[in-house]
Amino acid sequence: MSGELYEVISAVGETIIGNRQMLTDLDAAIGDGDHGINMARGFEAVKAKLQTLETESDIGKVLKTVGMTLISSVGGAAGPLYGTAFLRAAAPSQGKTELDVETIGLMLEAAIAGIKERGKATTGEKTMLDALVPAYEAFQDGAKTGKSVIECLELACEAAQQGVEFTKTIIATKGRASYLGERSRGHQDPGATSSYIMLKALLEHLR
Ligand code: ADP
Ligand code: MG
Ligand code: MG
Repeated sequence: MSGELYEVISAVGETIIGNRQMLTDLDAAIGDGDHGINMARGFEAVKAKLQTLETESDIGKVLKTVGMTLISSVGGAAGPLYGTAFLRAAAPSQGKTELDVETIGLMLEAAIAGIKERGKATTGEKTMLDALVPAYEAFQDGAKTGKSVIECLELACEAAQQGVEFTKTIIATKGRASYLGERSRGHQDPGATSSYIMLKALLEHLR
């Protein structure tokens, strides 16, 4: 894997591992308190696996490995959903070695479609989609007006952060938090939060 690609994925993984407690605390309030544990376990497994891909420069091949590793190492809802997201993002980045605006846009689009299908969810249900969908839309707005990767990711991160805030105002209708019904309101969704911090890690790393 080319140095840059390896470092991007590592940076995203380290951010998740570093926020393990925060993500778990958020999940303890409206779920079963394992989101940080699940995600950190997944990215620890990814970290180990990445070492076998050190000379791989094809973004799609690397993302496919990340996706399969997340699916096989993480239980619960988010692991398979993020795993699917990375697997889907691997298709438009197959054969690509550069993270350009067009490729990232296609990757986000494919990832979101995968999560929607696998989770049978849409926006407004207090899930990771409430961070990812607005992030994608903001990214594409930037892309349409010819902005750079960094500028598009800045817009995406802002929108994702607002999406995380939005999850506090709504009730969950998907996942474990939906069992709480009205009592899920007022709490921030853990999965939307992990999506936001992954995007933010990508931005911070590339910037
Ligand atoms: P579990 O709920 O199985 O313990 P996690 O705690 O790791 O799994 O992940 C919970 C997160 O997964 C939620 O905060 C939410 O963002 C996301 N999630 C749960 N169900 C769905 C779904 N059907 N579609 C999209 N995201 C979902
Ligand atoms: Mg949980
Ligand atoms: Mg669980």
